[in-house]
Amino acid sequence: MKIKIWGSRGSLPSPMTPSEIKNRSLSLIDNYIEAKKTSPQLEAKDFIESLTPGLHFGYGGDTTCVEVTNKDGANLFIDAGSGLRRAGNNLMSGPCGKGKGTVHIYFTHFHWDHLMGLPFFVPIFIPGNEINIYSVDENIEDNIKMLFKKPQFPVEYQDLLSTIKYHIIKPRVRTDINGISVCPYQLDHPDPCWGLKVFGDGKVYSHCVDNEGVRVSRKELGDDLPLYQNVDLCFFDAQYSFENYLEKIDWGHSSSSIGIDIAYREGIKQMIFTHHDPAACMEDIYQSYEDTKNYNTMMKKMNNASDEINFIYAYDGLEVDLG
Ligand SMILES: [Zn+2]
Ligand SMILES: [Zn+2]
Repeated sequence: MKIKIWGSRGSLPSPMTPSEIKNRSLSLIDNYIEAKKTSPQLEAKDFIESLTPGLHFGYGGDTTCVEVTNKDGANLFIDAGSGLRRAGNNLMSGPCGKGKGTVHIYFTHFHWDHLMGLPFFVPIFIPGNEINIYSVDENIEDNIKMLFKKPQFPVEYQDLLSTIKYHIIKPRVRTDINGISVCPYQLDHPDPCWGLKVFGDGKVYSHCVDNEGVRVSRKELGDDLPLYQNVDLCFFDAQYSFENYLEKIDWGHSSSSIGIDIAYREGIKQMIFTHHDPAACMEDIYQSYEDTKNYNTMMKKMNNASDEINFIYAYDGLEVDLG
């Protein structure tokens, strides 16, 4: 099972500003000149390709959208943030470009940052394509229709040329989407929000965004505890730094420390921290990454664990192959 992150930002698309790009470029050039002192033959391209994408080029600006694909090639999108626009462009080179595509999108909830990519998803405008939309929320159809309304958007819902089908799925019941087994569990977020446990190729992916992580103990999590159990990879809301989290109680988002605590207790193999704060620049997110590294080391000792939790800070375009 492969997981691709098409959008890693929370709340609002947040591209790097021109001055941030200028500063980043200057720093990369300085580092390259320095590296050439010890390796005079080093080509600029090889130097750039040796760097870690998130840490050196930023985390990206699109809001949340994840694609899960199994070994049979069946895929499922989770949420339609602005990252869905690029995913749609990518699909146009396949059956969707010929009006023969079938797309499956699960919505955790209908906050704007998880919806805004749909009006810019080209396959939805192509006659012959079938767009299947899934949610626990029974107002699913109205929530999508309100996106395609004048004067907010020039194309009205009835003028979309693809066939759109809606599927309400039951919470905490395992079901099948496009041959992929899934089960929704409730997260700590207003309106409400339903995370998704995805089973495929003998692996388990747990999608826990948006989530404040108010309920942490097994007792508090109750019926939603299985979302964190027997999981290979967990996609976890870490919008805030450790300090900001304490100032933003009830804002509906979490911090990586909550995810690390749960991961040690439940034996989660790998974490991806995501839904980065739109107010955070690249350096702020990097600082959160460093804080998480230190916290992880401390918690390994406290838990007497044999290994630290393997974690990544999400960036747009990140792909993880669970095998
Ligand atoms: Zn969100
Ligand atoms: Zn939300």
